[in-house]
Amino acid sequence: MTAGIERAAHAYCPACNPDPALGEPVTALCGATHPYWGRRERPVNNCPVCEAVAARTEYPCGHTGGER
Ligand SMILES: [Zn+2]
Ligand SMILES: [Zn+2]
Repeated sequence: MTAGIERAAHAYCPACNPDPALGEPVTALCGATHPYWGRRERPVNNCPVCEAVAARTEYPCGHTGGER
C-alpha cells in the first residue's frame, strides 16, 4: 500500500513547493512525503487523496489552488 502511494502521481502545493529539486523530499497534498523525481507524464495510477484535495479551493496548508 505504501509503495503504491509512493509511486502514484501525487499533487503538490505550488506555493509550498514552487521548484522542488530532484530528490528533495516534498509533501504531497495527501500528506505523503517522498523524494521528488519530476512529474510523471503517464502515471500508472493517480493518488485518489491528492485528486480529491486538489479539486478543492483550499489546501490543508492554507494555500489556495487558484493562486499562482
Ligand atoms: Zn497523494
Ligand atoms: Zn501550500
